[in-house]
Amino acid sequence: MRTNSAAAAFALASLFSGAALADGTVNIYTYRQPELIQPVLDAFTAETGIKTEVLFLDKGLAERVAAEGQNSPVDVIMTVDISRLTAAKEAGITQALNDETINGLLPAEYRDPEGHWFGLTKRARVVYASKDRVTDTAITYADLADPKWKGKICMRSGQHDYNLALISAAIAHWSPEKTEAWLTGLKANLGRKPDGGDRPQAGAIVAGECDIALGNTYYVGLMRTNEKDPKEKEWGNAINVIFPTFENGLTHVNISGAALAKNAPNRENGVKLIQFLAGHKAQQIYAEANYEYPVEPGLEPSEMVKSFGELKADTLPLAEIASHRKAASEMVDRVGLDDGPSS
Ligand code: FE
Repeated sequence: MRTNSAAAAFALASLFSGAALADGTVNIYTYRQPELIQPVLDAFTAETGIKTEVLFLDKGLAERVAAEGQNSPVDVIMTVDISRLTAAKEAGITQALNDETINGLLPAEYRDPEGHWFGLTKRARVVYASKDRVTDTAITYADLADPKWKGKICMRSGQHDYNLALISAAIAHWSPEKTEAWLTGLKANLGRKPDGGDRPQAGAIVAGECDIALGNTYYVGLMRTNEKDPKEKEWGNAINVIFPTFENGLTHVNISGAALAKNAPNRENGVKLIQFLAGHKAQQIYAEANYEYPVEPGLEPSEMVKSFGELKADTLPLAEIASHRKAASEMVDRVGLDDGPSS
């Protein structure tokens, strides 16, 4: 995530209070990286003539909107991860939106039943496997607790949103008891203390610290095409993607999404933006530029993402996954996952 200087944020805030509140604009607060959403916002402006004003934040989005209260200039909130979307709803900074167009475009499992958030892209939580040392072509989520992987698994913190969502999905599929036993087995299999983001786990595989790792799909595309950082290119090319599954044969997915802000001053334009983001053109851009999976049924991902193999996405409603987050977080602490394998 990009950090904005206070000055830049202030300049934007001033801008919002003036011209941006006029007709023909939609104001966006986002945790998403500028390069990931700008192409899709440019396409929106080209089609509708509505200008976008974006405030990029790396933390405190919900707190900021709550503090701004009724005077908040934000119309649409865009973020990754189901937990951040549900947190925005719980913080009372979103409003229910029941829009036929949007509901017709987005499958029900990827949106809030009450219309407070909408999933716009999917990403799968998969296994990065060493091309050199792993011959397995199928690994289930349950397999990650198999002693055959002892000392061979790397992952980022269990308390990170992406892992909490996966553990929450496990709780929904299995039971809290079975999930805790699984997590204990997974901890025992770690090659090192959980640390860093998803990409460095691929780096740890290259360094020989582990053979497999947990990571999101789009990072593989981003690593393999990283012209600025040859090291990441090497990491991305050193691993295969394996789609782990639950017993239903389906792989855990998370979303990036959008929500209509509670006090959206340009409500109509905000709705138009979410309609656009759910639509075909935006879905295509997301797929090509970001290596994410479109939520539009039947729309194919990019060639790069297709090269990973076929994703069979879990149909567990994201809202149900979100409901187990607290239990998942407490479980991570209880088993001491982040302490690493030896404790
Ligand atoms: Fe990410």
